[in-house]
Amino acid sequence: MSLKNMHKIVKKINRYQEEMECLTDEQLRSKTTEFKERLQNGCSLDDLLPEAYAVVKEASGRVLHMRPYDVQLLGGIILHQGDIAEMRTGEGKTLVAALPSYLNALEGKGVHVVTVNDYLAARDAEQIGKVHEFLGLTVGVVLASMTPAERKAAYACDITYVTNNELGFDYLRDNMAVYEEQIVQRDLHYAIIDEADSVLIDEARTPLIISGMSGKSTRLYEVCNQFVKTLERGNGNDELSKLDAISGEGIREDGDYMVNEKDKIVRLTEDGTRKVEAYFGIDNLASIEHLELRHHINLALRANTLMMLDRDYVVKDGEVLIVDDFTGRIMPGRRYADGLHQAIEAKEGVEIKRESVTNATITFQSFFNKYKKKSGMTGTGYTERKELKDIYGMDVIPVPTNLPVIRADKEDLMYKTKEEKYLAVVKEVRNAYEKGQPVLIGTNTIEDSEHLSSMLAKEGIPHNVLNAKEHQREAEIVASAGQHHAVTIATNMAGRGTDIKLDDVSRELGGLKIIGTERNESRRIDDQLRGRSGRQGDPGESRFYLSLEDDLMRLFAQEKMMSIFEKIGLEKGEPLKHKSLSKAVRKAQKRIEGNNYSIRKNLMEYDEVMNEQREIIYRERRHILEGKEIMMNDIIRLFISETVDHYLSGPKRKWNAEDIKALFNEVNKVIPGFGRVARSKNLNELKEIMSKRAIRLFGEKAAQCPKEEYLKEVERVYFLRILDSHWMDHIDYMDRSRQGAHLQSYGQRDPIAEYRDDMFNHFDRMMYEISKEFLELLFHTKFVETSDISEDSTEKSDSPKGFDD
Ligand code: ADP
Repeated sequence: MSLKNMHKIVKKINRYQEEMECLTDEQLRSKTTEFKERLQNGCSLDDLLPEAYAVVKEASGRVLHMRPYDVQLLGGIILHQGDIAEMRTGEGKTLVAALPSYLNALEGKGVHVVTVNDYLAARDAEQIGKVHEFLGLTVGVVLASMTPAERKAAYACDITYVTNNELGFDYLRDNMAVYEEQIVQRDLHYAIIDEADSVLIDEARTPLIISGMSGKSTRLYEVCNQFVKTLERGNGNDELSKLDAISGEGIREDGDYMVNEKDKIVRLTEDGTRKVEAYFGIDNLASIEHLELRHHINLALRANTLMMLDRDYVVKDGEVLIVDDFTGRIMPGRRYADGLHQAIEAKEGVEIKRESVTNATITFQSFFNKYKKKSGMTGTGYTERKELKDIYGMDVIPVPTNLPVIRADKEDLMYKTKEEKYLAVVKEVRNAYEKGQPVLIGTNTIEDSEHLSSMLAKEGIPHNVLNAKEHQREAEIVASAGQHHAVTIATNMAGRGTDIKLDDVSRELGGLKIIGTERNESRRIDDQLRGRSGRQGDPGESRFYLSLEDDLMRLFAQEKMMSIFEKIGLEKGEPLKHKSLSKAVRKAQKRIEGNNYSIRKNLMEYDEVMNEQREIIYRERRHILEGKEIMMNDIIRLFISETVDHYLSGPKRKWNAEDIKALFNEVNKVIPGFGRVARSKNLNELKEIMSKRAIRLFGEKAAQCPKEEYLKEVERVYFLRILDSHWMDHIDYMDRSRQGAHLQSYGQRDPIAEYRDDMFNHFDRMMYEISKEFLELLFHTKFVETSDISEDSTEKSDSPKGFDD
């Protein structure tokens, strides 16, 4: 829909105003029932929208004393049509979501309002929930601490506030449930995603994983960790182009290992390899039998050289927690894959969690694409609009601000060293502080924020430091960051979603001053920092302070900037202000954004393969849980057919006695007493005869079972158990080969096509194995008469009652 049409709808909504104002609370509330009836009678949500939005507007005015502005109504229309509304900070996105969530909840199929942390979910549910409850809808919130029963109740509400993580994990857990009652979510109907870019882009780089433990020891991690600490790092930066690497040219080695920070690769040199061999008493590290050792050494090196405490991860209560390098947010429950997490645990001397195997996994891309309809809100999505369109099918539509933005965004200043930069920042903070103007300083890492904090402390400047560790407390601090004299240091994500309001003195003094201490990898994150100032027409200013030693510069633009510095010949401590500066920064950012997009796209392509299979398995599981009978005859036929094919197919028309014998051996192992059948003319006929016999034998077996419903339960539980265990192995296999795939991506073969073929073969094989194991178990089950099965026993266990394996 064009913006012009949307404006027309806004007018329509506003025309209802007078009518709504005249209604009593009771009459306003009864609109909800009326709308539901109209829907029943064939009216569409689109038809209802203007009046329904007018109802919410009026209700919001009565309950919260806020009436959505026209731009908010506009945002609400965009959300209803399944797109992303780009609205600046302070425009009131929380209230915007109240409109489409009300309208879409009228269908009674549930609406999820997705936030990035528990604190926001609870806060928004509490606040906006009042409006919906006033209008007679139910509102729930899902928090990390909740029990399955509480979750189920929350998901059953008309509108549910929940974080992206809880949503994803509940989805995975629901698909591991053994009984239908354990399922907490309803179908994925409509989602409104707050901070959509953060959820759909930044977080989408790491999939959600539910993992189990493998039996492996963790000792090797410790040994390798201690060992690599004795090695010496080479000086070179080990940057080789692929071409150099292939032609074997340009490799200059020194030290025991070399680090390439840009591509995040560490490798042993010849010397290093020899030391490993000596230490572990082996001949040749390259040989296949030492694959695992090689992997562990590599992990220990990566953990010790590339992974940095308080930048990539933090240690809290004896646990290594990942920090999202984009947002600075801690990601509880996530672990680095493939042993890297354990290697870091060894490095930090905390308890090493057992090697985990992946039991269930999904990317946010696949997850959110399961919704019938989804929409998003963000302050900064436009630069990523192509990805949001390509991957999620949503357009990003910028909504004008309610009042014009008058914040002054000043040109970047570049210093030669980090220290000079920080001194300049401190000086600027001091000036503002003495004047009384509030300052918010954004840093990329927890380390930087602590460094800056100690500098400010030395200067005697009182300030708060926020690291996105405690959302609630930080939200309170950020909320008062607009008071005069306030000085706040925050990593990107800290206190996000909380409005910074100015007091009158601050407004006089020029509003909130934003200082960025580093350019981010993405322009979007810079804009988010800036956007914290200048809300709703407030005054404000922003500036980034950079240095040649910043990561972004160091890796992507240092040489160029260095030469400019030299040409101009600046004094120590004097900043560079040059037109080519912002160009160089922008170019470096674009390059990284591009890289990150390819990483996500690649992840997505792999996940699509898994997604097809996941859909098949999850659908099947769901049906079984809902009570669908297991199609025994189909399973028997599948088993017979595949077994016959396995032993007897192939180019030769005639089978020899050996093949036939092997076939019947196999079948008899699974189905005792099957015997043999006479030779037949062709495979199909043979399969038919054998299937019929197997089905008859199963009928006889089933007749031994005292009660038919018990048999059905045995079948269901066995089948699920076997399906799950094979499926988990399969996922783990998929995960590992995906991680391995990029290592083998040389040559002409397309790694994804290769992966796809492999996975589908593996999947078919798995289905066969499942049928075989399932039949074998059933045919070997001894059904015993038990008189003590009480009907009212409700306790569920993995095993059905009354049967022995
Ligand atoms: P955003 O998430 O877009 O940055 P918030 O949802 O945090 O903005 O809202 C910013 C502030 O504006 C909040 O204090 C909210 O209560 C207030 N607000 C939102 N909409 C309105 C409105 N229509 N009238 C008055 N105040 C509003």
